[in-house]
Amino acid sequence: MKVSVDSDRCRGHGVCAALCPDIFELTDDGYAEARNPVVPDDRVDAAADAADACPEHAVVVT
Ligand code: SF4
Repeated sequence: MKVSVDSDRCRGHGVCAALCPDIFELTDDGYAEARNPVVPDDRVDAAADAADACPEHAVVVT
């Protein structure tokens, strides 16, 4: 599983980073990026939950 953040959609709510801080982080400009784009197997469920919780549907999961 890989994750990325669509910068055109992200509005910096921070839900992803709050739910899954080892995978997502907020940058200095206030938007999210994937800290760890390749999700470890034991964090797949947490990363998927964070993606589902994004109110802007900005987290891309592949
Ligand atoms: S939850 Fe969505 S909109 Fe909010 S910071 Fe994360 S990717 Fe961006």
